Amino acid sequence: MTTQHETLPATDEEFRAHLREFFTTRHPGRRPKDPAERVAWQRAWNATLFDAGLAGPAWPAEYGGMDLPFDRQVIYQEEFARARVPGPVATGVGIAGPTIITYGTEEQKQRWLPAMLRGDKVWAQAYSEPGAGSDLQALRTTARREGDEYVVNGQKVWNSSADIADILFTLVRTGAPESRQRGISYLIIDAHAPGVQVRPLRDLTGGHDFCEIFFDEVRVPVTDRVGEENEGWKLVRTSLGHERAAGAMNQASMYRRVLDELIQLARERGATADPLVRDRLADFDIRVRIMRYNAMRIIDSILTAGQPGPASSVSRILISRFEQDLHEFAVELLGPAGLLTRDSADAVQRGRWLYGFLRTRASTIGAGTVEIQRNTIAEQVLGLPHDPAMPAR
Ligand SMILES: Cc1cc2nc3c(=O)[nH]c(=O)nc-3n(C[C@H](O)[C@H](O)[C@H](O)COP(=O)(O)OP(=O)(O)OC[C@H]3O[C@@H](n4cnc5c(N)ncnc54)[C@H](O)[C@@H]3O)c2cc1C
Repeated sequence: MTTQHETLPATDEEFRAHLREFFTTRHPGRRPKDPAERVAWQRAWNATLFDAGLAGPAWPAEYGGMDLPFDRQVIYQEEFARARVPGPVATGVGIAGPTIITYGTEEQKQRWLPAMLRGDKVWAQAYSEPGAGSDLQALRTTARREGDEYVVNGQKVWNSSADIADILFTLVRTGAPESRQRGISYLIIDAHAPGVQVRPLRDLTGGHDFCEIFFDEVRVPVTDRVGEENEGWKLVRTSLGHERAAGAMNQASMYRRVLDELIQLARERGATADPLVRDRLADFDIRVRIMRYNAMRIIDSILTAGQPGPASSVSRILISRFEQDLHEFAVELLGPAGLLTRDSADAVQRGRWLYGFLRTRASTIGAGTVEIQRNTIAEQVLGLPHDPAMPAR
């Protein structure tokens, strides 16, 4: 696997033009309908980016990333969203990658990171359990030590893209059952190992973006633990911070484009004569700008402090609420036509607004619910007292 960092242009303007040309000329084409073809298409695009030295704008160059400074990360994300090219496959690059970069050994970084970034191996997050979502410290999947291996037993749930994953990044209990955050380890598990069973779960949109996972006596080498035994909670904070921050700039840029498309649609349907519609569109425009500035704060925090910080929770709330409101408004704007799915010949823009409306119902739950994000902001940004209903930190 080789990348070509030396070819990056010298000025910001040339860099932007270089990206724009690359994304246009090498564009992978329309998203395939078939799920298996879609994953292959996305993986192929990630390999194209990696081989050209254009993957992982924030990642260190020694693991295949671009190591870009602040301004260039912003430009990269803007051009990426503008080009409508697919992002990384599943959740590895945005969440596990930064965690391994921060806490992994050099051997682990070399072994896992370039293949993850190139899309050769798909990673999925397996943290949540039926009894441990917001209260993740209550997790009960166990990892029993036997010599140089752990033996894992338990169940995970709501694991995005786990059905296409090669590798699962998991949280397991290595301490006593009631040890809470003091007995958790961060373990990387081969998704194809004997004893791992992944079952897709159907969601509101009719797709199956997430799964449940069962571990039955799964043997995992101790060398696949990231960080120290029983000290996984420290990694979770980094991991969750990056999950909430992941793609914040990309999403802000993407929603700039989506909002422009919605404004165009409103114009075409003659709706912009209505002052209430104009008022809503102006409100969305302001919120897109705020999302962009907040994403800049996150990138700055990662570059200066190595962590996204609580701004990632602010970002998560802004984006999740925004995307729900935007799609709700779009469906209302379209009236009955807004309720037609892509299979209907009369569907507006292949039913994209209805699909978005249904899909974004989950936005205020995934990556930590909006209530939990508010708690984080209350305590870590505003300095309010700790939630008495939650265990001490
Ligand atoms: C689209 C999507 C993708 C996901 N992807 C993954 C994934 O890839 N991997 C993974 O491991 N998990 C994933 N999850 C799971 C997600 O992290 C959990 O659903 C989430 O943390 C909430 O946990 P829960 O569902 O158990 O709800 P609960 O924790 O049971 O919460 C139920 C309700 O109680 C509220 N609540 C709970 N505690 C408090 C409190 N202290 N203060 C105020 N309100 C509270 C919550 O806000 C919520 O409204 C995903 C979820 C979704 C929706």
